[in-house]
Amino acid sequence: GPRVGVLALQGDFREHARVLAGLGARVSLVRRPDELESIDGLVIPGGESSVMDKLSRIFGLQQPLRAAIAGGLPVYGTCAGLIMLADTVLDGIAGQESLGGLDVEVRRNAFGSQNQSFETDLEVPALGGEPVHAVFIRGPVVESVGPAATSLASLADGRVVAVEQGNLLGTSFHPEITGEHRFHEYFLAKVAARIAA
Ligand code: GLN
Repeated sequence: GPRVGVLALQGDFREHARVLAGLGARVSLVRRPDELESIDGLVIPGGESSVMDKLSRIFGLQQPLRAAIAGGLPVYGTCAGLIMLADTVLDGIAGQESLGGLDVEVRRNAFGSQNQSFETDLEVPALGGEPVHAVFIRGPVVESVGPAATSLASLADGRVVAVEQGNLLGTSFHPEITGEHRFHEYFLAKVAARIAA
């Protein structure tokens, strides 16, 4: 299988590692820059983006991650991971930075205090088949999708919650905790295409 790293600074990296291993990937946890060199794709998990951002800088990973993204490494970010991939973060903490790569604006904690966590079924045409059961846990919303990015799914009210751009994929929700594997398969197809190229 392909070699897929999971950024393991913070957050639910173990859940992603389990799903990816179940799909046949050779999974490694990434905490150091040199661990980026031997992977064909990377998942950035859910967690807390402001903490993940700080740790990525402390561990000297921010620039290597940006270089890997710019170099075309397939990367899938869920929730905090989507925030890390967004070019613009609204309602970040003071000084919060992202890695960027996705031509989108995301708003952190966009669902407000009463409804920070909820579940819903989403139509995702790119995946086909049954709707995706999506669990949102203090998730972000994609407030605007720039010309380089594409929306893959939105809520009934039109707010965008899944996007892609080339080898980058991001969801506001957490397929890794619901037994939903199609986003990971979609991501692994990007990884396989990159290996074959
Ligand atoms: N609210 C978190 C953040 O801003 C994201 C929550 C999550 O990843 N489940 O990073």
